[in-house]
Amino acid sequence: MDGPKMYKDAAARYLEWCIEIGADECIGEGPVDRVAFGIEEAARKKKRNVSETKVQMKPEPLAANLAPAALPLTAAVSDAVKAATAARSLDELRAAVADYEHCELKPLAQNLVFSDGNPASSVMIIGEAPGADEDRIGKPFVGRAGRLLDRMFVEIGLGRAEAGAGQSLYITNILPWRPPGNRTPNSSEVEMMKPFVVRHVELVGPKLLVLMGNSSCSALLGKSGITRLRGIWTEWQGLPVMPMFHPAYLLRNPLAKREAWIDLLMIRKFLAEQGQA
Ligand code: URA
Repeated sequence: MDGPKMYKDAAARYLEWCIEIGADECIGEGPVDRVAFGIEEAARKKKRNVSETKVQMKPEPLAANLAPAALPLTAAVSDAVKAATAARSLDELRAAVADYEHCELKPLAQNLVFSDGNPASSVMIIGEAPGADEDRIGKPFVGRAGRLLDRMFVEIGLGRAEAGAGQSLYITNILPWRPPGNRTPNSSEVEMMKPFVVRHVELVGPKLLVLMGNSSCSALLGKSGITRLRGIWTEWQGLPVMPMFHPAYLLRNPLAKREAWIDLLMIRKFLAEQGQA
């Protein structure tokens, strides 16, 4: 095998491996020649060490390196409440979320992920936060987990592109911006963005909520432990709520699909009883 071809194959295998372990995006804007960078940095360090031994470096004023202080959480939450309650429509709410500057995930994300599906639907699904695919496309649940979610709900006659209230889905997340590396949302992020989710539910006015996984249960119900919560109807602000295993969990634990199917049947029965299905 000649040299360039060998490198190309090795590079392709390396990229596949990166994607497999979840490193599926470039963080920088352009490629960085780490080899050249390492050599230049070593040379710079060497030069600096020589001069640092001769001259006592004057420390930089601390304040010059500090980012502007973040707003205290209570103030950030009260800004969120004000902005969310002022929204009179989903378009206004979307604009209010887009204008909200206190969540530090916003500048890291490529796109705001607000919602997808039919806002007139009886069924509103709330997930955790966008992943890489959602961040790139700007819609919730469009990656592998999203495709499974679609297949699950089609089995009970519901789809996000359907027109009827009893046949469609409306989908959003607790967080509208992707946490880096798909980490679990932290409590400050959830507290800040929760007023927008609450208003989102009020404006959509579904007949029932489906909470996917622990993050949405803990954000809205103040409870986690999805294995215990799932499959049991509960209530949030007078609305029936069905907690379910997150589809990403089902991808990792296919045996749990049996429980998910039971939950789906309960949702279908509820809709039928309401004359919605
Ligand atoms: N997982 C979520 O909770 N939401 C998405 O939009 C995608 C994956």
